Amino acid sequence: MASELNKLTIADASSKLRAREITATQLTRDCLDRIAAAEPRLHAFITVCEKEALEQARAADARLAAGNAPALCGIPLGIKDIYATKGIRTTCASRILENFVPPFDATVIERLRADGAIFVGKTNMDEFAMGSSTENSAFGPTMNPHDTARVAGGSSGGSAAAVAAHECLGSLGTDTGGSIREPASFCGVVGIKPTYSRVSRYGVVAYASSLDQVGPFARSVRDAAIILRTLAGKDVRDSTCSARPVPDYERALTGDVGRLRIGVPREYFVEGMQPEVEKSIRSALKNYESLGASTVEISLPHTGYAIAAYYLVATAEASANLARYDGIRFGLRVNAEDNIALYETTRAKGFGAEVKRRIMLGTFALSAGYYDAYYLKAQKVRTLIRNDFERAFEKCDLIVTPVAPTTAFKIGEKMNDPLTMYLSDIFTISVNLAGLPGMSIPCGHDSNNLPIGMQLIAPPFAEETILRAGDAFERTGTFKPRTPAV
Ligand code: GLN
Repeated sequence: MASELNKLTIADASSKLRAREITATQLTRDCLDRIAAAEPRLHAFITVCEKEALEQARAADARLAAGNAPALCGIPLGIKDIYATKGIRTTCASRILENFVPPFDATVIERLRADGAIFVGKTNMDEFAMGSSTENSAFGPTMNPHDTARVAGGSSGGSAAAVAAHECLGSLGTDTGGSIREPASFCGVVGIKPTYSRVSRYGVVAYASSLDQVGPFARSVRDAAIILRTLAGKDVRDSTCSARPVPDYERALTGDVGRLRIGVPREYFVEGMQPEVEKSIRSALKNYESLGASTVEISLPHTGYAIAAYYLVATAEASANLARYDGIRFGLRVNAEDNIALYETTRAKGFGAEVKRRIMLGTFALSAGYYDAYYLKAQKVRTLIRNDFERAFEKCDLIVTPVAPTTAFKIGEKMNDPLTMYLSDIFTISVNLAGLPGMSIPCGHDSNNLPIGMQLIAPPFAEETILRAGDAFERTGTFKPRTPAV
């Protein structure tokens, strides 16, 4: 009978490791066994790092034996394949980087390594983080552990599925328009997108640099808080990264939400939304009221323009960021008679359809004659959206909304209709445009037993408010996340 240490939370595993009741090697072994058993049905990983993980585990055990190890020492994590990992292939789920092995670590990877965390593998994602279902991975989709006929969400679908299916205890994702929160919601785990600039983006493959943010997935709010503390903080290699001191997020988990004013935006309960999603969020709000919090209706009037503005800003930035994949400096090279032909054939072969669509959209939006009409206008809308939130936060401390209008959809269902796919992010995208912190926590199930996520949004750098409220909801125990079918 397997010990199944892989089912422990990070908080429990960490105290057992430090009390020497379990070893990092046993814990890592259990995760790797689980990965071997579940991957044929899930495909949450692009690369499994068995040998490296066991070496890291041995080093962690030595450090734990010496005493005084950090909270993440010996904890097995999954890493989205968008993070540069020294000596480990980093593909971004693209053919163009299929054989790219970075010579350096991203800042957050370096920090996790310094704490003694263990990397069991690189997780699947939409190519260059463009998508909401992980179906745009050049290596094939990730299946939802609750129902393998359905998507895990995206773009960080592998990271969410791996945590939900107990293949690791926590993981890293990135969120440009919802890529942490939406898969967290679809897979029934916790996912945090911190304030823009809270965490360094150095060594994270860039999609849309003014929106991209790094964040953790975990099976509890406390676990996510533990990971976030290690990730956050100043980095001289990312000039946009904030120098604000990083709080001890765990200390914010007091269970006390009395006097908390929760705003409920009327624009976020739209027609066409799955009724069970609305019902779950409304019942979670009742829960908060019974804990002493108050709710107030608020308005975010420019919500309806968010998707359009996002798909101009994000694609414009992407078209510039992805210019570097030219077949010369890194990744795939398809040789041709001259340099121009080399660029063209390399990019034609290396990029998938959705990435090409975005590069074309973004190049168009930035081109002479269209810049003012599209890009500049989108930037103005972005300001209006940010102002909406500023005004709303005069009336409340926290905003609660659904994460997505539906639960996990079927694999293939939205692949031929990019616009419907883009609409999955209708409730998450404004948060990126405004640079705010947002978290998804499981709050219910629909009639197919699929998880429903609740989104908590706070003012800039008020991650503690989100974490406190999320943890308080978990403590009520009114809702117990189900163990996935796989
Ligand atoms: N689904 C959105 C997009 O495709 C958001 C993706 C993300 O957050 N990386 O752009």
